[in-house]
Amino acid sequence: MKTPDSKGYFGEFGGKFIPETLTRCLKELESSFNFLKKDKSFNKELSFYLKEYAHRPTSLYFAKNLSKRVNLKVYLKREDLLHTGAHKINNTLGQALLARYMHKKRVIAETGAGQHGVATATVAALFGFQCDVYMGKVDIERQSMNVFRMQILGSKVIPVISGSQTLKDACSEAIRDWVANVENTYYLLGSVVGPHPYPLIVRYFQTVIGKEVKRQIRDKERRLPDYLVACVGGGSNAIGLFHPFFDDKKVKFIGVEAAGYGLNNKNAASLIKGKTGVLHGAKSLILQDKYGQISEAHSVAAGLDYPGVGPEHAFYKVTKRAEYVAVTDKEAIQGFKLLSKTEGIIPALESSHAVAYLKKLGRRAPGSIVVLCLSGRGDKDLDIVKAWEK
Ligand SMILES: *Cc1c(COP(=O)(O)O)cnc(C)c1O
Repeated sequence: MKTPDSKGYFGEFGGKFIPETLTRCLKELESSFNFLKKDKSFNKELSFYLKEYAHRPTSLYFAKNLSKRVNLKVYLKREDLLHTGAHKINNTLGQALLARYMHKKRVIAETGAGQHGVATATVAALFGFQCDVYMGKVDIERQSMNVFRMQILGSKVIPVISGSQTLKDACSEAIRDWVANVENTYYLLGSVVGPHPYPLIVRYFQTVIGKEVKRQIRDKERRLPDYLVACVGGGSNAIGLFHPFFDDKKVKFIGVEAAGYGLNNKNAASLIKGKTGVLHGAKSLILQDKYGQISEAHSVAAGLDYPGVGPEHAFYKVTKRAEYVAVTDKEAIQGFKLLSKTEGIIPALESSHAVAYLKKLGRRAPGSIVVLCLSGRGDKDLDIVKAWEK
């Protein structure tokens, strides 16, 4: 089955739940994307920047020491080695090129922890866009280093003081800006979320991960893996790894969400604890209270701290194409240390959730061949882990 359908639906999820004023923006984006993804010079230029600027292809590394510890044969897809330290650059490079081919002069973005903001500010500097990044005031205070990074890169960070002053409010403000300035402005969204065609566009740019893995694992093992494992925030690194294997039914997908911690009952496991609803223009599984109000998410990993999830994951969940599990903050910290100590690789706290799940998988299915998406490096998280020790 080809997903999404022409209206942007993955089964019952996805679509476009948007104010009338956005229709034109999304139509323009969709037709440009459909044209450019087949355009030779666009794809040639994208390949050039992925290779020479971002440093693709990333290696598929057999983690021998870790494998012994978890009773599996684990390969790490090293997205942590990319420029800016995570998979996000695959998407921001792709969309920035899209914006350039659409003759836009300005890009805007939303950001929570600031990682997507930094990846956007990076490509804005590279391609010479004016760039404004919307960020909740609370997040600005929590993530001052990323704010400074964006400024150094020449972007402006606009504080959002409405609502809970976090990511979901920043999204709403960015959309408002886009509607008012669509003539010259491109809205660069950070994950496989939002109204159609964003989940499709971001998937297109992130599937470079899974396509490379397919080639690399065939070279190394002469067969496909038993499991693909990735952490899920909005879901872009996971979809990027999973999607190219969609029709390979023997390859099982495991998405690892953030269970947060039980203390205040807050978590970020939208697929496990969420209910069907609409957030930021798409129908998906969303954390909400019994009145349908969006709940605040919590995770020790800032990049997983989002109350929604991409509609394609909701579709994989209900059709059982993928299995979703949750890992607590505490387990994620253990995963962080495990990979650091066994392989000399310090993972992002987001990716550490996926690492942490390997122990359980090793008990369930010992000896399996597993590809884990190491979505980012952990230098950015050292302060958090240090504070955790106390
Ligand atoms: C942002 C981020 C994530 C979560 O985003 P997805 O869209 O779910 O991939 C995961 N890992 C890292 C390192 C990130 O920066």
